[in-house]
Amino acid sequence: MLSWEQSPSLVQMQRERAWVEIDLAAIAHNVTQIKRLLQKRTELMAVVKADAYGHGAIAIAQASVQAGATWLGVATIPEGIELRESGIQAPILILGATYTPEQIRAIAHWNLQPTLCTPKQALVFAETIANLPNASPLPVHLKLDTGMSRLGTDWQAATEFAQLVHRLPNLTIASIYSHLATAESLDRTVVNQQQQRFETAIAQIQLAGITPPKLHLANSAGTLTDANLHYDLVRVGLALYGLYPAAHLKSVVALKPVLQVKARITQLKTIQAGTGVSYGHRFIADREMAIAVVGIGYADGIPRNLSNQMGAIVQGQLVPQIGAVTMDQLMLDVSQVPNLQEGDVVTILGHDGNESISADDWAETLGTISWEILCSFKHRLPRIAVSHALPDFALDAKRQ
Ligand SMILES: *Cc1c(COP(=O)(O)O)cnc(C)c1O
Repeated sequence: MLSWEQSPSLVQMQRERAWVEIDLAAIAHNVTQIKRLLQKRTELMAVVKADAYGHGAIAIAQASVQAGATWLGVATIPEGIELRESGIQAPILILGATYTPEQIRAIAHWNLQPTLCTPKQALVFAETIANLPNASPLPVHLKLDTGMSRLGTDWQAATEFAQLVHRLPNLTIASIYSHLATAESLDRTVVNQQQQRFETAIAQIQLAGITPPKLHLANSAGTLTDANLHYDLVRVGLALYGLYPAAHLKSVVALKPVLQVKARITQLKTIQAGTGVSYGHRFIADREMAIAVVGIGYADGIPRNLSNQMGAIVQGQLVPQIGAVTMDQLMLDVSQVPNLQEGDVVTILGHDGNESISADDWAETLGTISWEILCSFKHRLPRIAVSHALPDFALDAKRQ
C-alpha cells in the first residue's frame, strides 16, 4: 500500500495518469453525522475490511478513529495486522471466521479480537491460547445466525454455545452479535424476525447467568433505519464512505461520498462520420466528432460492461463514453466541450461543477450494488488523500 505521507512531487507523479481521491474530511463528516443518530451508550465501529471498501484502510481507519469511531472491523487477520503495524490502537474485530492454531496465535500476538462461530472453533481457540507462553484471556465475540444463513451458531443453540465459551478459562466473551440480511428493505418482516430471535437468544443466555458486555446487530442499513437495532455498537461500512444502502434512506442523514476517480486526457482527435471507435467497433460516429482518449480502463477497475453506457465529467460537463472500455484506456465524445487540452483532468466517478456520477449510478446500470463498485478499483490507481474542507476554509478566511 502506498503511504499518505509522501513528497509533493510523488503525489504529483501519481496524478499523471489516473488516480483515486479520498476526502478524509468527508470521513470525519460522515462519522459525525452517523454518531448523531446514536445514543450515548452506542459505540461506532468503522468497518474497514477490503482495504476500507477500496479507499485505503490505514488512512480511513485513522480518520474514523480521530472523528469518534471507537472500534474497527476487518474481515481477515492480515487486514488487522496492517492496521496494527501502522500504529492504530483501537480495538479491532475480525468479522470473518478464523480457525487454525497459526491464525489464533497471530490474533493473540497482534491484539486482534476474533469472531467465534461454532463450539468446535471455541475449543481450538481455548487450547491454542492455553499453550501460549504467558497466556492471558482472549476477548472473543460470539456470532449468532438469526436468519442470514452465513456465519454463526444457530440462534436456538446460542445458550449452549455461550455457556461453553463462558466456561473456557482462556476466553472472555466481549460481545454477542448477529448480522441482518435485509435491513435496507422497506418490508421489515425479516428484520423484525431476526431481532426477535436475537433478543430471545440473549434473554436465554442471561437466564443462564451470563451477561454479555456488548450486543450488536446493525450494519449501515440497520443503523440508518431503526434506533432499536443499535444496542451497544453499530458496525458501519457503506455509510461511512458516504453512500446509502437504499435510496429511501437519503432523508435520514446527509452523507458525503469519500471517493472520486479521476484520469487525464492523453490524446484529443477529430473523427469523421462513419468512423468506428475501439475494439469491435461497438460505436460508430454518426457525425464528425471530437473525441478524447483517457488513461484509465478495466485493469484499473472500470467495469468493461459499462462500455457505451457510462459518462464522465469534463470541465463540469457530463459527456458520454463511447466504444469498448479497453484495459488501460477509454474514449469520450467531447464534441460539446470547447478548448480541451491533452493533460486535462476528467472525473470518472465523483463530482465537478453541478454534475456528479456516483457508484449508485454505475451499480444501477450494471445490476449490482454500490458496495461492489467501491471494491472494484485496483491498486494500480494511487489513493491520494485530499481535503475539500481546506480550500473552503481558505476562501472564508479571505472574505473576513
Ligand atoms: C461488512 C459488514 C458490515 C458492514 O456492512 P455495511 O452494509 O457496509 O454497513 C457489518 N457487519 C458485518 C458482519 C459485515 O461483514
